[in-house]
Amino acid sequence: MSGEPQADCLFCRIVAREIPATVVRETETTLAFRDINPQAPTHVLVVPKAHYPHAAALADADPALAGTLLAEAGRVAEEEKVAESAGGAGYRLIFNTGAGAGQTVFHAHVHVLGGGDGLREKLV
Ligand code: AMP
Ligand code: ZN
Repeated sequence: MSGEPQADCLFCRIVAREIPATVVRETETTLAFRDINPQAPTHVLVVPKAHYPHAAALADADPALAGTLLAEAGRVAEEEKVAESAGGAGYRLIFNTGAGAGQTVFHAHVHVLGGGDGLREKLV
């Protein structure tokens, strides 16, 4: 069934607490934890607890959960003080979608990146 945990999925195993992670926020339906290979001073991943292969599949199957994921990304940015509303310079949300675009874990997630000078360079 859609959203069911996958035994061979790294982020399903982090959600199940079978693999350790540094969790920064949790709701009934989402988990936020620090990226193991940070690309900015703040680099947090926010994932739905349910398994979907990428963000668009999540939004298609459960639009409310996709909205919660985005709201949680914003709350992480506030708590990490990278959001302008929390005195930071702003932050970037990234959804790599597909291997050719750099996706390596096929469980929907959004990267929350902020802090330092690296984000001044615009990608788009
Ligand atoms: P993506 O390349 O967009 O699929 O993002 C996957 C991210 O997961 C990468 O930035 C990895 O550094 C990160 N990652 C891989 N293994 C772990 C782990 N065990 N705990 C936290 N983050 C991880
Ligand atoms: Zn998964």
